[in-house]
Formats: sequence, structure tokens, C-alpha cells
Amino acid sequence: MKKMLKGFTLVEIMIVVAIIAILAAVAIPNFIKYRRSSQATACVSNLKQIQAAKEQCLMAGKELNSANLFGDAGYIKVEPKCPAQMTVSYTIGDATTDPSCSYSQTDASDTSTWHSLNRAATSTGT
Ligand SMILES: [Zn+2]
Repeated sequence: MKKMLKGFTLVEIMIVVAIIAILAAVAIPNFIKYRRSSQATACVSNLKQIQAAKEQCLMAGKELNSANLFGDAGYIKVEPKCPAQMTVSYTIGDATTDPSCSYSQTDASDTSTWHSLNRAATSTGT
């Protein structure tokens, strides 16, 4: 009895590779877009926490600075950093201005990637 060794032909393997390439071409840009959007959402969440800490600090009559806001004696244990770029610190601002992130987004037209408290105010209204 003759035993036949059967495997995949080159064409079959090329078809599988082509399908995987097409799926990756669709998935990777979406993955990058949603990652950027979720980083911006986390950044806005940090900005809201800083804003709340600022208000508590002002209500307590303390001076607004990072030593009073962050750390064991402050209102936030660990100073938050922008999730898109962990080296970026937030600008606390004074009593009348919102805290801000200095991370520069690449796509300014997409409001879901804005690292700004103003984005949250406009997106919740729609
Ligand atoms: Zn940010």
C-alpha cells in the first residue's frame, strides 16, 4: 500500500496569508483610532479629578499648587499623568481656568481625541 503525504499547496497558503493581510489592514487603523480615543477619555477623566481636587483645595482655603493637590497631604494620592504620553504633566491653572494637558494630538478635527475638558462639555450635550 502506497502512503501519500498530503500537505498544503503554495496557492492555499497564499490565500490564507492574503486573508490575514486583509483583516489586519482593516483592524490595525481602527485599533489605533480607538486606542487614541480611549487615551483621550482617560486624560479627560484625570483632568476632571484635578478640577475636583482644585475645588476642594480652594474650599479649604489652601494655595493652589501641586504640593497641596498631590501626595499624601493632598487630595490626589499620585499625581496623574497623561496616558498618551506619561512624561506630560498637567497644567493645574488658577481658580478660574480649567486644568489642561499639553499633549498635542495629531488629528485636531476629531474631537474624541481632544485632551481637554471642553471636549467633555460639548460631547455630553449632543
Ligand atoms: Zn492628555
